[in-house]
Amino acid sequence: MAHPTDEIIRAMHSPTAKDTEIIRDAYDFAEKAHGEEKRKSGEPYIIHPRAIAITLAKLGMDRDTIVAGILHDTIEDTPVKLEEIEKRYGTNVATMVEGVTKLSKLKYRGVERHVESMRRLLVATANDVRVIIIKLADRLHNMETLQYVSEEKRARIALETREVYVPIAERLGMGLLKAQLEDLAFKNLEPEKYKETATFLEEQGQKAKGALDESVKDLRKALAETGIKNFRTESRIKNVHSFSAKLERKDNDIDKVYDIFAVRIIVPTSDDCYKTLGVVHSLWRPIPGRVKDYIANPKPNGYRSIHTTILTPQKIILEVQIRSEDMQKESKFGIASHFAYKDQNVTEKAASLGWALQFIPSLMRVVRGAGAQTAAPLPRWLSELNEAANVFREQKSFQKALKEDFFAERMFVFTPKGDVIDLPVGATPVDFAYAIHSDIGNTMVGAKVNSKLVQLSTPLKNGDIVEINTKKNAHPNKKWIDFAKTSSAKHHIRNTISRIESGQKP
Ligand code: MN
Repeated sequence: MAHPTDEIIRAMHSPTAKDTEIIRDAYDFAEKAHGEEKRKSGEPYIIHPRAIAITLAKLGMDRDTIVAGILHDTIEDTPVKLEEIEKRYGTNVATMVEGVTKLSKLKYRGVERHVESMRRLLVATANDVRVIIIKLADRLHNMETLQYVSEEKRARIALETREVYVPIAERLGMGLLKAQLEDLAFKNLEPEKYKETATFLEEQGQKAKGALDESVKDLRKALAETGIKNFRTESRIKNVHSFSAKLERKDNDIDKVYDIFAVRIIVPTSDDCYKTLGVVHSLWRPIPGRVKDYIANPKPNGYRSIHTTILTPQKIILEVQIRSEDMQKESKFGIASHFAYKDQNVTEKAASLGWALQFIPSLMRVVRGAGAQTAAPLPRWLSELNEAANVFREQKSFQKALKEDFFAERMFVFTPKGDVIDLPVGATPVDFAYAIHSDIGNTMVGAKVNSKLVQLSTPLKNGDIVEINTKKNAHPNKKWIDFAKTSSAKHHIRNTISRIESGQKP
């Protein structure tokens, strides 16, 4: 019998009868819980969790994650209690639903503040990286249905998507979701520019279609002749936002943008990738300096592929991306692609966690180096990462990943209890104190970094453990404004000083 979950099940990689049964049950449960509740579009609310479940299934996520996706708004919006979810669907599902609920409780308090909180929470509170993936799927559907909310809210959500969710999707290697979110944000934030760019790309695509098809045909023939079997090709036009950003970087000179068109060649092994590169270069003239070997040198988010740009006889400049089937999966789904394999051996599991390791390498150092000092219990997925690190540490790629940070311009420092504080690079103990609470900042008299007394102007480093000493009647010093990095610290210092000067109690 047909059921509204059929599309979810079909999108799953290899669903069992039990998966089907539980997903149906969760759907009926959520539908009943949401009852008469409607989306802004006027449709029944359940279409939203259903859309998320489909995205999660397409990403190859496991049954628990899909069930958690179906239930993700029940705690917040309906009388359903977490205990009930736990009883029906287990601790795993309940923990994920709780995590998503926690993340959605964050209220907007200005972009800078909010971005900080979001990132901090995503890293520190998400006790399971799958919570973040559910959150990304949730955001995708909200972005797809953004036309139904007020203009003000639309701009806020689109900006947040661009500043918080797009970088996270990128860092997790989820290229497909990243591109979707990025284009939707672009469309809502700069509708005119979006339309202009999209139209341009479409026109170019129409114009070049015949020549492109011909090139792909030549390519397929040459590959087959060389004996490369089981390959497939995909032609594509760049996503709208990345094209527009590139055009801007090249002073809006369209002749300087080489890769409007790209063809992707997917082959069985990485050996085949190099063979294919040879075929491509003997078929067409490569443009010098445009070969990039991301197989030998993967991008920080794990992206692997070979890129080259060539000129076809029809004078079309074409970017060629060559990768194996595994690399293709990873580049589209990133961290999620590693959940798709049901029976991984230990090394593979470690490799898959390696993706997540890159998420917060600096935290790993603290976890390994100073575990005893940070008594606070780690989120479960972090301790799993810690264990996986032992297997993975031998590998060069792990060492390399360690050098990269989740957000190059941000750093994570810790309270003595192990709470994570997310600060901009160059921030000082003053920023740290105010980030915890304005009262702590206002009464600060000294700071210890990694148990050593330091000057308040000392720039903090990733992974530092910072302790602030306060005194009851102390108050801020004007000089602090010079070395504070966050606008919130500067703001509090100024306010407090002016209140003291005007004779009010601080
Ligand atoms: Mn939702």
